[in-house]
Amino acid sequence: MSYEAYKDNSLGFTTKQLHAGYNPGEHYRSKAVPIYHTAAFELGDYDRCVRLFDYSEEGHSYVRFSNPTNDVLEKRIASLEGGRAALAMASGMAAISNTFLNLANAGDEIVAVQTLYGGSTTLLSSILPDYGIVGRFVEDADDIEAYKRVINEKTKAIYIECLGNPGMNIVDVEAIAELAHAHGIPLVIDNTFATPYLFRPFEHGVDIVCYSATKYLAGHGTVIAGLVVEKGGFDWLNGKFPQFEKFYKEFEDSIDKETLDQEMFTKRLRIRFLTEMGPHMSPQTAFYMLQGMETLSLRMDRHVYNAQKIAEFLDQHPNVEYVNYPGLPGSRYYELGKKYFPKGTGAILSINVKGGEKAALKVLEKVRIFDYMVNVGDAKSLIVHPASSTHFYQSKEERAKAGVYDNTLRLSVGIEDVEDLIADLAQALE
Ligand code: PLP
Repeated sequence: MSYEAYKDNSLGFTTKQLHAGYNPGEHYRSKAVPIYHTAAFELGDYDRCVRLFDYSEEGHSYVRFSNPTNDVLEKRIASLEGGRAALAMASGMAAISNTFLNLANAGDEIVAVQTLYGGSTTLLSSILPDYGIVGRFVEDADDIEAYKRVINEKTKAIYIECLGNPGMNIVDVEAIAELAHAHGIPLVIDNTFATPYLFRPFEHGVDIVCYSATKYLAGHGTVIAGLVVEKGGFDWLNGKFPQFEKFYKEFEDSIDKETLDQEMFTKRLRIRFLTEMGPHMSPQTAFYMLQGMETLSLRMDRHVYNAQKIAEFLDQHPNVEYVNYPGLPGSRYYELGKKYFPKGTGAILSINVKGGEKAALKVLEKVRIFDYMVNVGDAKSLIVHPASSTHFYQSKEERAKAGVYDNTLRLSVGIEDVEDLIADLAQALE
């Protein structure tokens, strides 16, 4: 009886974050998910080996392809996201770069907003173009007409983020999804800052979700990890994706039709990219991920509670010029925030400090609980000066487009007692 929870998708989010995808009955009834610390698995007999290698049988052979610990993590995130399939990778950048490679061939384009995580912008603007895949950036992410202007017959996906970094801007996901689908292309989102607890991409038309699982999903700043989740049902055989047509032909006799129809993106990502490019997540990391995700909803509730209180405090502070947080009624993203983030608009916010860069750096020097770190999404509170770190390599104009000025500080609000965090910021701002 107690072993049934792992496959019941009608259970609530918090129940699923503890049970989904793991059947202890298949693992010596170990209550914790075991770490399968091996490089490879016995193949059994010749016939089974052939079935594993033509993918007609699900199973584990070599760990660069799959591992039972990672398998639980993949099933768990797919369940929490309400998706069909998922794949664990070595880092958020591995998840994102391999997603782009799965979507586009040389000569293709990917349309993206300008307020992406810096690594994703660099991939699309400087690295992939050398391999023939070009990122086309939307001039104004808030204007649907601006997306239409950069889409053409070479476009193979639209790529957005749930909450912009560090301006916390929100795009109208449903309108963009509709536009993508009208062109026969998928909408892909980086949902790192929100997690499936705060924002439900698949319920708003998104087809593929990428995560830097390093952040809130793992939750404690202890691992580097990435995840890709597929909603299922996108028509990859609609004439725009020759690579998927080729893949379908290659595997239609061995992989069952329903699986190919519903999760071809993930199958190809695993077979072509995880296996052949090697961005594998170690099972030890998958174990830490599963541990972290057991408390995801509880942590996120506390993160957004603290962030809202802090945003309200900073908004009233005489030494703060401006607060970027969509949970404030004065934010231009307040209404979109209410629509897409009913539980709260995340726990990252940015402020412009009065007195310019000198004053901002003074705040950095004076904080005692907020740690001066480039990371986000840790249980502990973090603070950084984006212009001299995360956005260092961008020009002043590029930074301004992302809402980064010399006096901007980005805060990743942790789960400490909010009174302590407010007192810390108050003394630093003095
Ligand atoms: N996406 C976002 C929104 C991020 O903030 C980051 C890292 O900071 C990444 C992707 C890259 O993830 P990782 O550092 O796990 O490779």
